[in-house]
Amino acid sequence: MSNSNLSCMRVISPNRNSPRNHKIDTITIHCVVGQMGVESLCAHFSSPGLGASCNYGVGPDGRICTIVDECDRSWCTSDWANDHRAITIECASDAFYPYAINANVWKSLVNLCADICERNGIRKLVWSTDKNARVSHLNGCNLTVHRDYDNKSCPGDYIYGRLGQIAKEVNQKLDVPAGPFKAYQGQVNAADGLNCRTAPVSGQVRKVYPDGTVVAITKEDSGWGYTGEGWVCLDYINKIASAKDPAAKEEAIMDGKAFKKMFDEMRQQWRDNDASDYSKEARQWAVDSGLIKGGTSGEFNGMWEDLMTREQLVAVLYRFAQMMGQT
Ligand SMILES: [Zn+2]
Repeated sequence: MSNSNLSCMRVISPNRNSPRNHKIDTITIHCVVGQMGVESLCAHFSSPGLGASCNYGVGPDGRICTIVDECDRSWCTSDWANDHRAITIECASDAFYPYAINANVWKSLVNLCADICERNGIRKLVWSTDKNARVSHLNGCNLTVHRDYDNKSCPGDYIYGRLGQIAKEVNQKLDVPAGPFKAYQGQVNAADGLNCRTAPVSGQVRKVYPDGTVVAITKEDSGWGYTGEGWVCLDYINKIASAKDPAAKEEAIMDGKAFKKMFDEMRQQWRDNDASDYSKEARQWAVDSGLIKGGTSGEFNGMWEDLMTREQLVAVLYRFAQMMGQT
């Protein structure tokens, strides 16, 4: 049994049982309720008085530390049996609801989980929203959560609501053989546009899809996808949803790139305009970008109402104002 090479620091906690008594076949992801770096995580969980530990910690900068070797059982999930079979991971998170983890932590967590699976012969991660399936490991379920074993909110609703996505991203790294190929829709993610070629890699360029274009990928070949017009490199395509699910598609598009674009533009406008011009220009921008209807009513377009309530939008704008030091 080995430890992950992705770890940059190893401070072994006395809070453990050595060795574990069960093969590693489960992963339990926790939120630590604070943006604790690896040094703090190691110091915290190595305190003998704490009576708690974890196999790995992930800091807000994405660095990973080893606190209990994989061959040993950590004291993490309030369940003796779970921790004998699980690798436990404490993630730096916000200290407030929903205990979100940042993008660094997310990326390291996915890489760490994939590495754990590869070294321990776990072919894929399987999440279930059904507690019984989790604690009884039904249907191959091998992701468990602290809240199943104790009166705790851990891993927090942010992680809890995304464990399916985490499993999916880990499994993509594990190259879990997919079922029969299904067409899907993707959005071009390339600032200078994306070449559509007559054949993968070195085919003639037939056209260039502008950044943000949505295409349907109807077949794949070694990292290239066929759009109906030609082949595109899938490194520049963000898969958005099943082609059969237009609602999910719309949401995924807005969730991701389009929202970021609008947000960046909004931020630029905030910087570029003084307060007196701002509201007029912001309004024009909002109309031009389809955020609100023109005219005097200033109503939101339906697309936005489907995506978020006005209250949520106001919350986003308020966060943004805070970020820019305007409150
Ligand atoms: Zn926990």
